Amino acid sequence: MSPTYTQKDIARISAYLGMSQRAFREKWLYKDRSGDWINKEAPCQFLDLKTNHCQIYDVRPGDCAGFPHHGTKKIVEYGNVYKQNIAYCPATYRLVTQMQEGFAEGKWELKK
Ligand code: SF4
Repeated sequence: MSPTYTQKDIARISAYLGMSQRAFREKWLYKDRSGDWINKEAPCQFLDLKTNHCQIYDVRPGDCAGFPHHGTKKIVEYGNVYKQNIAYCPATYRLVTQMQEGFAEGKWELKK
């Protein structure tokens, strides 16, 4: 799973690293089928595998800063992202589990 990088992200992070935007893109990113800039490598090249910390935390992509995106859109409009993130994100797992329990117990119901 890779974050997507906006042009602002690329400008901010490449400046932080003292690289040109072009060099940054060429070294670490590629455009996926939908036209988003994403990492060439997994796990992310900025993850320090010894400490499990992000090496560019202060300037990380907005996609990372907003993760797990629970407030980005209505849940019904973002099901694909929840489905993707549930395997990686304990907060998403907990949210979805609580929703399932709420429906099973009759606390909530879908609006028609
Ligand atoms: S938070 Fe940092 S290490 Fe994690 S995906 Fe984003 S840029 Fe990579």
